[in-house]
Amino acid sequence: MARLKVTPAPSTEAVYLHDASLRTLTTEIISHRPFSSLPENEKSLIKNADPGVSAVTMLQTILYPQGGGQPSDTGSIALVDQEPSFIVSLVRKTEDGRILHFGKSSDPEALFVEGQSVVQQVDGAKRDYYSRLHTGGHVVGLAMELLFPEMKKVKANHFPKEACMEYKGLLYNEQQPLIQAKVDELVQKDLPILISWVEDGSDLEGRGALRDGPVRIASIGGLDQNPCGGTHVPTTSLVGPITIRKISRQKGISRVAYEVPVEM
Ligand SMILES: [Zn+2]
Repeated sequence: MARLKVTPAPSTEAVYLHDASLRTLTTEIISHRPFSSLPENEKSLIKNADPGVSAVTMLQTILYPQGGGQPSDTGSIALVDQEPSFIVSLVRKTEDGRILHFGKSSDPEALFVEGQSVVQQVDGAKRDYYSRLHTGGHVVGLAMELLFPEMKKVKANHFPKEACMEYKGLLYNEQQPLIQAKVDELVQKDLPILISWVEDGSDLEGRGALRDGPVRIASIGGLDQNPCGGTHVPTTSLVGPITIRKISRQKGISRVAYEVPVEM
């Protein structure tokens, strides 16, 4: 019996991993499909899709797909030298490394065609805020590592109004000023956010990096090492003043909630 030959769909080059400062990029369409024609595993990437939603994949993207506690970017796609005709409301990554841009076309009948050159645009103000919120999480994480090295980080959330770092063990409200002072110190030092890649992430045991292939490491001034696929601002002072909002405890897990200014 002849074997069915399966050609894997091309994956998307995640350009934001290498340059988080890009706000526009010209690239090429791989596919553009109405939501209703997507396979079930891709449909399940978004909840309650409106009628008229479709999904665009391209060879490259500068739009961040939700993940690692950081929300999805929004933006637009335009044919070269034309006004944007597709508004991106949500970006999601598939298990096989394709990045789907969900949104709506100004003309729902008009789909991009494979091979067309298009210009992506990221909503810059929102990206800047998300990058500062995410980088703020690293700063809180480093402050915690310096103050309480025995406490293990269990979770991070960098969504607006929900941003927090969670640790195994107990922290108390009395410790809030101490954490705030350490965070302020790290912001004032204007430490660089350093990005590097390691071929084998298995020596980063216990840091959630146990997967195949190269692992991207984010470090604040060389003082810590965190596997991370998110977007960052270049230095800690660019996060802006970080406020430690609240310390709370539940079932042996302590949560350090923080926020950064929406605008800088
Ligand atoms: Zn990061």
